[in-house]
Amino acid sequence: MKTLVLSAQQQADIAKAAQLIEQGELVAVPTETVYGLAADARNAQAVAKIFAAKGRPTNHPLIVHLADHTKMADWAKTVPETALKLAAAFWPGPLTLLLNKAEGVSDVVTGGLTTVGLRVPAHPALLSLLQQYDLAVAAPSANPYKKLSPTCAEHVLTGLNGKLAAVLDGGACEHGLESTIVDLTGDTVQILRAGPITANELSAVLGQPVTQPQQHNKAVPGNVKAHYQPNTLLRVMNKTQLNEALQSVTAQIALLSFETKSDKPNVHFVAMPTDAKDYGQVLFRELGKADTLGLAEIWLESPPQGQQWLAAHDRLKRAATHLG
Ligand code: AMP
Ligand code: MG
Repeated sequence: MKTLVLSAQQQADIAKAAQLIEQGELVAVPTETVYGLAADARNAQAVAKIFAAKGRPTNHPLIVHLADHTKMADWAKTVPETALKLAAAFWPGPLTLLLNKAEGVSDVVTGGLTTVGLRVPAHPALLSLLQQYDLAVAAPSANPYKKLSPTCAEHVLTGLNGKLAAVLDGGACEHGLESTIVDLTGDTVQILRAGPITANELSAVLGQPVTQPQQHNKAVPGNVKAHYQPNTLLRVMNKTQLNEALQSVTAQIALLSFETKSDKPNVHFVAMPTDAKDYGQVLFRELGKADTLGLAEIWLESPPQGQQWLAAHDRLKRAATHLG
C-alpha cells in the first residue's frame, strides 16, 4: 500500500483523512502526546487492522479518542462525577479515563475487557476532524509493537510506511509522551500509566487521593516490561556510572545527557533539556534520531526524581529492558 502524506494545515487534507477513516482505512494522526494510528472506533474490522499493522497482541486494549466530553456517554456504561470533573479540568488534553464500557462497544477495541479508555485529544487538526465528521477513533501509538513511539510524521513512516493509508502531518507533538491513564472504575482512583498529568494535579481537582503504584501493573495488558525500544541497545546510567564508563569507551556511541560530556570523537553528544516537559517532548525524537546513526549503543543519563519525571522514568525503564 502507498502511504499518503497529508498536511494538517490543509482543510482538504483533513477531509481526505476523515474520508479514509470512514472507509475503514488506517490513518496516523497527530495528537499532543504522540502520533496515533487511527481507525473508526465503531468499525471493528477497521480497528482489527491496527493490530495487524503494529503486530500488537489483540488483547491489548486501545484508547478511544472523542470529539468532546459529552461523547463519553456513548462509550461508557455510566459517567461518574469523577470523570466529569477530570474532563472539565484536563480535556482536551493528555489524560485517558478508564470507565466501564457501554453495551455495544466492540471487544476488538477493549481487548475483551469490560472497561474502555477514553480521551479528548488537544491537537487542533485531530479535534477538528473528530468534530466535523462526527467520528470517534481508536488509536494506539503509531509505532510497530514494542518500538519507539513516533512524535513526528517522519518517524511514523520509519516504522509503518506501507502499512497504513495515510499520515496526517501535524508537526512535532507538544508533549512527546503518552497520556496519563487513570482508572475510575474502582473505589480508589489509580494511575495505571504515568504521563504528562501527575497524581498531584488529578488529586487537586478531585479533592481525594490518587494512587500511583510504582510496580509494573499486570492489570493493564500492553503495559509490558520491554517497550518503547530503539533498535540500538539503550543503557540508562547515573552521572557517576556514565563518567566512569566514558573513560574507557572505544565503540561509537550516542550520549544523551545533561551536563556529562565527552570530547572523544566516538561519542555523539546530545544535550537533553533540564525541564521535565521539554525533556518529554524530545525524548522519543532524540532516541529515534540516534537510532539511525548506526551506533553500537545509546547511553542516556538518568533524569532527576520527582512526580513530573515519572513518565520519562517509566518509558526509559522499558526502553532499556531487553528481556522481552
Ligand atoms: P498506546 O495507545 O499504544 O499507548 O496503548 C494504549 C494503552 O492504554 C495500553 O497500555 C493499554 O493497556 C491502555 N488501555 C487502553 N484501554 C484500556 C482498558 N480498557 N483497560 C486497561 N488499559 C487500557
Ligand atoms: Mg504505544
